[in-house]
Amino acid sequence: MRILVTGGAGFIGSHLIDRLMHQGHDVICLDNFYTGHKRNILKWMDHPYFELIRHDITEPIRLEVDQIYHLACPASPVHYQYNPVKTIKTNVMGTLNMLGLAKRVKARFLLASTSEVYGDPEIHPQTEEYRGNVNPIGIRSCYDEGKRVAETLAFDYHRQNDVEIRVARIFNTYGPRMLENDGRVVSNFVVQALRGQPLTVYGEGAQTRSFCFVSDLVDGLMRLMNGDHIGPVNLGNPDEYTILQLAKAVQDMVNPELAIDFKPLPQDDPRRRKPDITRAQTWLSWQPTVPLQEGLRLTIEDFRARMLEADPEDLPQSVYQPSAAST
Ligand code: NAD
Ligand code: UDP
Repeated sequence: MRILVTGGAGFIGSHLIDRLMHQGHDVICLDNFYTGHKRNILKWMDHPYFELIRHDITEPIRLEVDQIYHLACPASPVHYQYNPVKTIKTNVMGTLNMLGLAKRVKARFLLASTSEVYGDPEIHPQTEEYRGNVNPIGIRSCYDEGKRVAETLAFDYHRQNDVEIRVARIFNTYGPRMLENDGRVVSNFVVQALRGQPLTVYGEGAQTRSFCFVSDLVDGLMRLMNGDHIGPVNLGNPDEYTILQLAKAVQDMVNPELAIDFKPLPQDDPRRRKPDITRAQTWLSWQPTVPLQEGLRLTIEDFRARMLEADPEDLPQSVYQPSAAST
C-alpha cells in the first residue's frame, strides 16, 4: 500500500515508519521539522519505496495514497505552548486539509488524538465514553481543544462524506528518539539523570501518568488502522505511577545519589491519568507488553548513546563508563 505519515520525522511517526517500511509498504513522510528531525528517518532516505516531503499541513497538498496516519502536531506541552496559535492551526486547518485529502483519494484516515481530550479527568480510569473536563481558555487548550476539534472533524467527514476514519486516543508514550529538549517528563528525567543534574519534579510529584513504550503504541496504531472499528480507542499502558515514583525509578537506574528539585506545578496540569483499555483489548486484541523498567532501560541507553555522540563532555564519567558506574 501507499501510506502517508504526517509528522513522520517525529518521535512516534518515525517508529511507525520503521514498521511500515519493514512490512514493504510505499511510505511518504510529510513533516515541517518543527519538532521532528531528519536523523529519525535517515536510514530510509535512499530507499526506493520511501519519500520525504517537507511540507506544513496547514497548507493543502495533493497526493495519491491508500492510508493516512495523521500524527503531525507537537506533543510536548513546552513545544505546543511555544506557539499556541500555530498549534491550533495545525490541529484544525491541518486536520481539515488531511481529511480533505482522504476524502478526495478515498484513503483510510487515522487521527492521532490524545488522552488530553479528557482534560483533568473526574473519572478514573478514563473510558472512551467520558466526555472530559477541559478548560477552554487555559494554556493547554490550544492542544486539548485542538485535538477535540480534530476528532469532531474526523467524525463529521465520516458522517457527511463517508471517509473511513480511525481515532486513537494516545496516552503518555515514551522511548528512544524523544528530543533531549522535548520537555516531557521521561526525557527530562533521563537527560537530567545522565548529566548528573537534579530531577525536576513539578508540584509534589503526586500527580499520576501511565507510560506506554513506543513499540507497543505503534503496534496499537497499526491494529486500529487495519481493523474494523473506527473508535475512539484509548491506546496506553494502564500501569499508573506518580511522577515521584517515576523520578525514583530513573534515580535507581542511573544514579541513586541524584537530588530531586521540586518546581511549581504548571497551570491545569491533570492530576490523574490512566487509560481504561477494554476497547483496545476486545476490538484490537491489543495490550502493552513492555514494562516501565524495560522501556526506561532502552530509553536511557538511547539517550546515553546520543549524548555521547554529540558531546562526551556532556556526561559525567560515572555515567558513560559502565565499569566506573558500578564502583
Ligand atoms: P513529535 O513532536 O515528536 O512529532 C510531531 C511531528 O509533527 C514532528 O515531526 C513535527 O515536526 C511534525 N509537525 C508539527 N506540526 C506540523 C505541521 N504544521 N506540518 C507538518 N508537520 C508538523 O510528537 P510525538 O510524540 O511523536 O506525537 C505524534 C502525535 O501523537 C501527535 O499528534 C501527538 O499529539 C500524538 N500524541 C502523542 C503522545 C505522546 O505521549 N507522545 C500522546 C498523545 C498524543
Ligand atoms: N513533569 C515533571 N517534571 C518535568 C516535566 C514534567 O514533574 O521535568 C510533570 C508534569 O507536570 C506532568 C507530568 O510530569 O504532571 C507529565 O508531563 P508531560 O509534559 O510529560 O506530559 P503531560 O501528560 O502533562 O502532557
